[in-house]
Amino acid sequence: MLHTHTRRRSSLQLSDKELLTALPETTLLSTDLQQLTLADETTKVLTADTGSLNDKFKIPAQGLSEELTYELIHNELTLDGNPHLNLASFVNTFTTPVANRLIRENINKNLADNDEYPQLIELTQRCISILAQLWKCDPNDKPIGCSTTGSSEAIMLGGLAMKKKWEHKMSDAGKDTSKPNIVMSCACQVALEKFTRYFEVECRTIPVSTKSHHMLDPEDLRKYVDENTIGCFVILGTTYTGHFENVERCSEVLDEIEALHPDWSNKNIPIHVDGASGGFIVPFSFDNAHMRKFKMGKWAFNNPRVVSINTSGHKFGLTTPGLGWVLWKQDSYLSPELRFRLKYLGGVEETFGLNFSRPGFQVVHQYFNFISLGSVGYSERFRRSLYVARTFSYGLLNLPSLEHCFEVVSSIHERIDDDSVPTDVKDYWVNQGLYKPGVPLVAFRLTDKFRNKYSEIPQVLISSLLRQRGWIIPNYPLPKSTDDSDKKEILRVVFRTEMKLDLAELLLADIQNVVNRLVSSYKKLTERVESGKYESVENRRNYVYNMLLELASPADDSKQPTIDTKRAKEGEQRAKENYRGTC
Ligand SMILES: *Cc1c(COP(=O)(O)O)cnc(C)c1O
Repeated sequence: MLHTHTRRRSSLQLSDKELLTALPETTLLSTDLQQLTLADETTKVLTADTGSLNDKFKIPAQGLSEELTYELIHNELTLDGNPHLNLASFVNTFTTPVANRLIRENINKNLADNDEYPQLIELTQRCISILAQLWKCDPNDKPIGCSTTGSSEAIMLGGLAMKKKWEHKMSDAGKDTSKPNIVMSCACQVALEKFTRYFEVECRTIPVSTKSHHMLDPEDLRKYVDENTIGCFVILGTTYTGHFENVERCSEVLDEIEALHPDWSNKNIPIHVDGASGGFIVPFSFDNAHMRKFKMGKWAFNNPRVVSINTSGHKFGLTTPGLGWVLWKQDSYLSPELRFRLKYLGGVEETFGLNFSRPGFQVVHQYFNFISLGSVGYSERFRRSLYVARTFSYGLLNLPSLEHCFEVVSSIHERIDDDSVPTDVKDYWVNQGLYKPGVPLVAFRLTDKFRNKYSEIPQVLISSLLRQRGWIIPNYPLPKSTDDSDKKEILRVVFRTEMKLDLAELLLADIQNVVNRLVSSYKKLTERVESGKYESVENRRNYVYNMLLELASPADDSKQPTIDTKRAKEGEQRAKENYRGTC
């Protein structure tokens, strides 16, 4: 986020050493509050100026003690949301105590110091090797790659490598290289568009539609790809709805396009796969047979057009924030002019990246995760997340209390064969291979039926009211489309590994309560308006007050829905027994 310098009125002139000794944090108050806090008894002191107090936007002349500074900053940061309840983000929020120990031990190591920390480089190398295998590199390929600060940097590098390759192909053929373009769907994350602006490539975004599940329809490539197309970004797990764009079909369509244009000099238009989420989810959750059934067996380096893939270590790689990866299938996809050679332990090391100094501990964390979880550990975690996400979708669609309220826009809860939903949620566990692959997230929205009935209820209120209980669930429009689906908004819940079934059930309960409160306020208000009764100002005041109070009131916990009716009964009983008076 960009931050501007905030110009403040000059701070209070104050020199009272005693006061500062007693209340050192006063220096951090805003000027306004300093005046209020210090105005009365200390007025005299205020005018006896020898120095000035600094507010939060200036560095203090004298620092505070570490302990006090810790306390102040610690307290301030508790106002941030609880990362565990932040269901808006893909970024991992759970680190085990043992991993934390390893992180602390390595927190001062700089990844750029190759000479000093050769083992960090070695661990990076091992991670790249593991990723190359997960992404189906052939033993004869010579993959190379690097760690980055996240998928964003990785995408910049992937795009840049394609741009250079394209320039070479075109200039070798004596053609113009001044108008490169790159093609991607409108469901792209902002990093992909950033690449185009920062590196001066025309951004050709393809609008999506409900029919294409709000992701790229590979057939549309025909209208957007030309000789100046440096490549295509194909998204394995869109941020909007978690769908996997069909890398395999995109590749076939590119074959067909090229066959129609034998005169083009940019043969073999490459694909860069944005696997920010999917790069980890697919190899550990959906085996070859499953992906083939979904007509996407060739989603990785087993597809000749896929030259590079990125992923976010800090999303489903389960590290702390600040780690991404990008790999190229062949050393040759990275043009020499993009590489820098550094002397390293007497030898020479090549680097490619936008940063120099960076923390090294995330790489350590990534390697720790690979070794401590193993394939089985990752697979089990994602299998559970997918199960919870699918069960949550099932609950939204089938709970009697939410009947006809929501439609689910993501697709992982549907069977591959006929888009059907099972009659028993257990099937999601037992027959997981029958269901559509995707990122463990649920994108949902109020049904048209609900909207027609309660047309004045804005969906975003559900998100704001859930915030009352601590849940952070974004509400935002679908990507730009050809069928006006971008006028529709969705709520999205990401199921990270720590989101267990019981928490999902609590969330469903809270959603139910919020919907009930909204509907009941709506009904009262519309009845009132229709009756035209505004006898007195007082009556109206009471009425509006009570309605707003109802919206603001905490949820009624006794009506928790549950997938299991027996447990629902027990829950009601417990709620009755539970004493929740003032305490
Ligand atoms: C998160 C995300 C990105 C950006 O990744 P960072 O690691 O946050 O930089 C890019 N593409 C997709 C599809 C994403 O989900």
